[in-house]
Amino acid sequence: MKCKLCGKERPLRQSHIIPEFAFSPLYDEKHRFNEISLDVKRRNRFKQKGVRERLLCGQCEQFFSKYEQYASTVISRYRKSLEFRQVGDLFHLKGFDYNKLKIFALSILWRASVTKLEFFAEINLEHHESIIHQMLLTESPGDESDYPLMLFPMYHHGKIQEDLITTPYVSEIEGHKVYCFLFLGLTWAFIVSNKEKSNRLIECSLSRTGEIIMLPRALEHSPRIVDMAKDMARSGKL
Ligand SMILES: [Zn+2]
Repeated sequence: MKCKLCGKERPLRQSHIIPEFAFSPLYDEKHRFNEISLDVKRRNRFKQKGVRERLLCGQCEQFFSKYEQYASTVISRYRKSLEFRQVGDLFHLKGFDYNKLKIFALSILWRASVTKLEFFAEINLEHHESIIHQMLLTESPGDESDYPLMLFPMYHHGKIQEDLITTPYVSEIEGHKVYCFLFLGLTWAFIVSNKEKSNRLIECSLSRTGEIIMLPRALEHSPRIVDMAKDMARSGKL
């Protein structure tokens, strides 16, 4: 089978879409995790190895894994300091490598669009899929205004909610399409649009200078997540 990234005929690995380290806060002592699905007809299931599909060859898995390792270090470094900030403050994340973190994030967005897994059904990048594919192959993350990435620390009762992964969904900011993923206690919001972005949007996005200003949000004030929780409660998933 052809690898989705390099296009070569090679044995394919069971690839993660959202990287495995993001699932670690969700694993119970038996090393299973609870997949939360928006589809009320499907019961939640315990899975052993995250959400995976045969997508990439071993070499391309390795290629992405170096970015995942970097992101994992950055996130864990900031995790503790985030916990102690006041809700309502803006968070300032500084000192990261823009190229590495942006490529990591774009690789998740792209994988979510390429996969056939039902969990990522809402993510369809259309013609942006091949553009991002090229950016990944050439390790060129572009500028702040190319697929800007905003991060929102997600709080519930004053604590960052790391043990929650929900189905990615499509939203809108200032008339731009936004693809949102929730994992590692953050909403990762990608602006996918050809239209000019406002300065305000760019100022709140991952910056080439290696910093980002993040606006914390309470889970209960995120309509989409509240709806998900209500649906799940109705169908007996919670
Ligand atoms: Zn490959």
